Amino acid sequence: MADAEIGVIGGSGFYSFLDDVTEITVDTPYGAPSDSLFLGEVAGRTVAFMPRHGRRHHLPPHRINYRANLWALRSVGVRQVLGPCAVGGLRAEYGPGTLLVPDQLVDRTKAREQTYFDGTPLPDGSVPNVVHVPFADPYCPAGRQTVIAAARGRAWEPVDGGTLVVVEGPRFSTRAESRWHAAQGWSVVGMTGHPEAVLARELGLCYTSLTLVTDLDAGTEAGQGVSHAEVLEVFGRNVGRLREVLFDAVGALPATSGRVCGCGGAHEGWELGIRLP
Ligand SMILES: [Zn+2]
Repeated sequence: MADAEIGVIGGSGFYSFLDDVTEITVDTPYGAPSDSLFLGEVAGRTVAFMPRHGRRHHLPPHRINYRANLWALRSVGVRQVLGPCAVGGLRAEYGPGTLLVPDQLVDRTKAREQTYFDGTPLPDGSVPNVVHVPFADPYCPAGRQTVIAAARGRAWEPVDGGTLVVVEGPRFSTRAESRWHAAQGWSVVGMTGHPEAVLARELGLCYTSLTLVTDLDAGTEAGQGVSHAEVLEVFGRNVGRLREVLFDAVGALPATSGRVCGCGGAHEGWELGIRLP
């Protein structure tokens, strides 16, 4: 099987311009991922792209098989993951086009598989043990600094840090929910950041979130609240420069063997019961 060292979970806009892309399908003990993996080379590094919502964008956030997606990436050799996503801004100063690299996460999802260690036997008969990984700092510190430097290198000053609150969706928030999120001091709201980050942590993968603000959330603006057309329009306008930042970051990430961030050892000391791919 072909392999890759870095994974990018995001839309087709990130890989469709690459000259040479190899599509491979990967099956996992958790079922099929969102789509095939698309392998290509960026800045001399091998990258596996996973279209989070499927290439036809047919999977809503609550139906994405997050466990399969992360497992598939690890199974082709990926150890560092970049996860760009569209979010709503919870502060007036985080308007459309803001790039925010969060350092904290709040989970307000309701019904998603969010661990590999739930006691359910895998098809090979192995049974995962109970494992509690540390998650105080949900994102890779080295990945965050790499992404922030890459954005600055493209003259796109990012917001360094902040809290991403992840809601179940697929509906957008009510005004009351949105005001509540803002009153907690949280920065941006999205629908896919959880459980992506924690599953990466369970697999010993570095995970870095890049959030692109596409709209001000309902409680932050006076108008009708978020519309899907608005989100698509802002994302489309920014996808090119987000791709530049991502690709620069890919080139600047440490080699897998050179990681000193500690993400790879998150499950150290635990008897997993299953073998990671
Ligand atoms: Zn890391």
